[in-house]
Amino acid sequence: MTFQAPKGTFDWMPPRSEWALTVRDALSAPARRAGYGYIETPAFEDTALFSRGVGESTDIVTKEMYTFTSRGGQSLTLRPEGTASVVRAVLEHGLYGGPLPIKLWYSGSYFRYERAQAGRYRHFSQVGAEALGSEDPALDAELIVLAMDGYASLGLRGVRLLLNSLGCRECRPAYRAALQDFLRGLDLDEATRARVEINPLRVLDDKRPEVRAQLTGAPLVTDHLCGACKAYHEEVRGLLTAAGVAYEDDPRLVRGLDYYTRTTFEFLHDGLGAQSAVGGGGRYDGLSEQIGGPALPSVGWALGVDRTVLAMEAEGLLTERPRALGAFAVPLGEEARRRIFPLVSELRRAGLAVDMAFGGRGVKGAMKAADRSGARYALILGDRDIEAGAVQVKDLATGDQTAVPLAEVVEFLKGKDS
Ligand code: ATP
Ligand code: MG
Repeated sequence: MTFQAPKGTFDWMPPRSEWALTVRDALSAPARRAGYGYIETPAFEDTALFSRGVGESTDIVTKEMYTFTSRGGQSLTLRPEGTASVVRAVLEHGLYGGPLPIKLWYSGSYFRYERAQAGRYRHFSQVGAEALGSEDPALDAELIVLAMDGYASLGLRGVRLLLNSLGCRECRPAYRAALQDFLRGLDLDEATRARVEINPLRVLDDKRPEVRAQLTGAPLVTDHLCGACKAYHEEVRGLLTAAGVAYEDDPRLVRGLDYYTRTTFEFLHDGLGAQSAVGGGGRYDGLSEQIGGPALPSVGWALGVDRTVLAMEAEGLLTERPRALGAFAVPLGEEARRRIFPLVSELRRAGLAVDMAFGGRGVKGAMKAADRSGARYALILGDRDIEAGAVQVKDLATGDQTAVPLAEVVEFLKGKDS
């Protein structure tokens, strides 16, 4: 019997898997520099956390969750997103009683039972950042700038920022009613008509052409914002411009989660086909209260690691190997293996990336392995070298070879490692 990774999942394999690490690192680095602390929460939670937090009427809750009953009879769900878990942890640990905002970042696996296709998986990876407990447009702008800086640090040029405001509990109800009036007059299937009653904003996010075509005249949230929301949004826009971040106003932008208020945004890449969102986020001022906490106005984002790698590929950025070996050791014989092993260990401890030939292959096989490894140098040790107390350092690109005394190999390679 043989096995394959389940449908909608895939393995990150070397050397491509290095890019997943590179992306995770690059997308989180700006947040780490901006004072966001690392948080790690469990991969599964109480099902009710997501059904209440993410919103009963969202696609995620109605059809995409991996829910199971534990042996103890509790309903648990593999996390489909990170925000609800972070808010749960902040409430559980009482962080809201301390200095605000609470700034946190995270990275990990998320699970959604989706229609599997390119860029849409059932198991995927995100980097997220959340700033909780503060209603300050500079915080919304900060997060957006940090995400854009993360994409830019990877060399991506094609990431576009879409920006909108979804209003607050003061102005959203009137807009919601106006939108419902409009939507009730359309020719929609039963499921969508039901959605009009529960969460009409989500209908604006419908991707089907027959629905999209009917939405042209839909009332826009931007025309229904209250004074406070308008001012807040203007402030966010001004700060983005001041920080040199370009955005496109998209009055139809809504997100897949129910908890968003005010600022909402999405990062798009046009090289990805239908799955064009590489990240998204927004303000969720009501989420904490929805899951039993105090008022905790917050803003955050989640960036897709898998799609960001695909975007880099679309821009031709996956050419260079992100982490090449400095040297590859080739022992010629048993005694050489015994001698070169501590040298390899020493080089690694000195911070150099070094591998060696294993399995007692002949010289030819070992040199082939050295070439294939992508290392810059081969460290060749034969009987004569052992006698001389030196190792042959061969530049694998030019073929040049020099004997370097064993005691000086670290220094020699460190000198070249620039
Ligand atoms: P989409 O509209 O593409 O379904 P979403 O609005 O559901 O995205 P979020 O929940 O905001 O996405 O997640 C943030 C980011 O995580 C997305 O922009 C995307 O890059 C990534 N992402 C979401 N779902 C998946 C998935 N099933 N497979 C791969 N990446 C995903
Ligand atoms: Mg989705």
